Amino acid sequence: MNTRVVRAACPHDCPDTCAMLVTVTDGVATAIRGDPDHPNTAGVLCTKVARYLERTYHSDRILHPMKRIGPKGQGQFAQISWDEALDTIADRLQSIAKHDPRAILPYSFAGTMGAVQGESMAMRFFHRIGASQLDRTICSSAGGAGLRYSIGAKMGTDTEQFEHARLILIWGGNPIASNLHFWMRAQEARRKGAVLVAIDPYRSLTAEKCQHHIAPLPGTDAALALGIMHVLVRDNLLDHDYIARYTLGFDQLRERVAEWTPARTAATCGIDAARVEWLARLYGETAARGEAVAIRVNYGLQRVRGGGMAVRNIACLPALVGAWRHAAGGVLLSSGDSFPRRSDWLERPDLYRADALRPARTINMSTIGDDLLRATSHDFGPAIEAVIVYNANPVAVAPESARVAQGFARSDLFTVVLEHFRTDTVDYADIVLPATTQLEHVDVHATYGHQYIVANNPAIAPLGEAKPNSEIFRLLAQRMGFDEPCFADSDDELAAQAFEAGHVYTKNYDWQDVKLRGWYKLDVPPAPFAEGGFPTPSGKCEFYSERMLQDGLDPLPTYIPPYESVASAPDLARQYPLAMISPPQRNFLNTTFVNVQSLRDTEGEPHLELHVDDANARGIVDGDRVRAWNGRGEMLARARVTDRPRRGLVVALSIWWKKLASDRKNANELTHQRLTDMGRAPAFYDVLVQVEKVPDH
Ligand code: SF4
Repeated sequence: MNTRVVRAACPHDCPDTCAMLVTVTDGVATAIRGDPDHPNTAGVLCTKVARYLERTYHSDRILHPMKRIGPKGQGQFAQISWDEALDTIADRLQSIAKHDPRAILPYSFAGTMGAVQGESMAMRFFHRIGASQLDRTICSSAGGAGLRYSIGAKMGTDTEQFEHARLILIWGGNPIASNLHFWMRAQEARRKGAVLVAIDPYRSLTAEKCQHHIAPLPGTDAALALGIMHVLVRDNLLDHDYIARYTLGFDQLRERVAEWTPARTAATCGIDAARVEWLARLYGETAARGEAVAIRVNYGLQRVRGGGMAVRNIACLPALVGAWRHAAGGVLLSSGDSFPRRSDWLERPDLYRADALRPARTINMSTIGDDLLRATSHDFGPAIEAVIVYNANPVAVAPESARVAQGFARSDLFTVVLEHFRTDTVDYADIVLPATTQLEHVDVHATYGHQYIVANNPAIAPLGEAKPNSEIFRLLAQRMGFDEPCFADSDDELAAQAFEAGHVYTKNYDWQDVKLRGWYKLDVPPAPFAEGGFPTPSGKCEFYSERMLQDGLDPLPTYIPPYESVASAPDLARQYPLAMISPPQRNFLNTTFVNVQSLRDTEGEPHLELHVDDANARGIVDGDRVRAWNGRGEMLARARVTDRPRRGLVVALSIWWKKLASDRKNANELTHQRLTDMGRAPAFYDVLVQVEKVPDH
């Protein structure tokens, strides 16, 4: 028997980007585990990826190209050859490109986070065609924009340092489900005496395990941050030296936050004023003692109308108390901008040639439901005639799902999907192409939760006729007659060039070495903002932002109420009085893993969690079948009656495949396509619904 161990990287949309070890015997992957030597992974994979072999060798894998033989949405396909699939796609795209290439749309996101199987060869292909660009906003762009306005970049506290903090605010996230390795550090901090405070309208698994939990109304986190600032200023819990040297606009900020008394904050957030006082004083006094205070803010809270502003406000807090002076202080939303990516080289935007008649067009992935249904017009440009979907499952994931499905059901739309499984989106495809999984291809990964570049070596040969995304776009480029040398770059060459070698953060980076060792830690100094040096225009933490003013936003921290809440939309709330959020189910990762039986078995079916008082008011008991609905749609679920959601909130842990639910629907039937204040992102958690008991069947 020939057994070897291969170094790999977890490809999924998770901040932890684990380093993995795959045992391969006679060409078959037989075991997978976290690399014990990787400091962040520390030998631990989450329950989802611990089942990665079950997913890789799943009997439902798509192993051959297929073409549609039934109505759109029914998922009826016949196997075809690669030649037939590629010829069909190339013919159709060429014919569309002749009259307007912008009618072709790529649709992709973070099905893999890899630099090679993500947007390298694919973007070269779409740039060369002259296709519409895709604004990839669906997850994090609101928070990213807010963070950049305040501190200049998606950077922050090193996850490995959190264990040395004395106070950690875990704000808008449930790391046990979706940032496990941060949670391990937070637990270590607690063992050393740190205080953990969860801030979340839902008492999640994480909130259950923190010493304290504060549950503001969804969409009011920006107000809570303003209230904390008010108390810090009022009680002089400030680091005046840090503020004077390394911040901009403190005087204007002081005036602004004077309005945000604990009473006003409490009324806005639906919590007690005493809790606002307590939290602010805990934060300020811990910092004033010279101890490290850290905030792990996550993407949950930015999925509301004012989500960008919420992150901006929270990102101002560490500078007020001088928390950045400590390696274990500050705030972390994402470390993504720490990585010196060579996106221009990988994606080759120079291949794109716009002209006056056909100016470049960008489609927002978050409004794909509406945009697929738009006709040609002067403002919109050409109607979308072809969509090429890879690393994404928009029919289940994009907001206002009924509109999305209606768009993909258009008989005149040509849809190609690169996939591992027959997802809800695959059911609408004209051509389906079998893509390799992470064990079957080369890749290299940056991350948004730590500071390591992680290498992925192929462990096994592609199953069936599956091919890497990069190879599929290489072959399509050949079929389309694109002869630029960049279309011949191998995956290894792409990986080798994915990051700038010799950058201040990658002084000794070398791909050949990283492939062997498995990872490379960026040379980011500890406490990168201890002496300012923020990558903002002023080089300071900007309480006042001239860029925001230029972008049409309030230049100071403020509060933007939700689109849909009892306070901001009272008429709507009379019909639909319950707020709904749809955070990740622990055993799913977006829609990945929902079809892995052993993981789905833990949930069984979609659930809707209600507060006991809201359930009683509707005659609902635990286990009842319920219908949640609003003006956009409805979904059925099994009721879970607890005191974990705050009163007035229902929680639909997600994201279920629609076809695996009894009514073939999921929570996105109820979400809408209105966008956040900045970053053009969807407001998934800014939704009102009504709920009733329905008969079981
Ligand atoms: S999903 Fe996250 S925690 Fe799980 S193995 Fe992948 S990177 Fe690690």
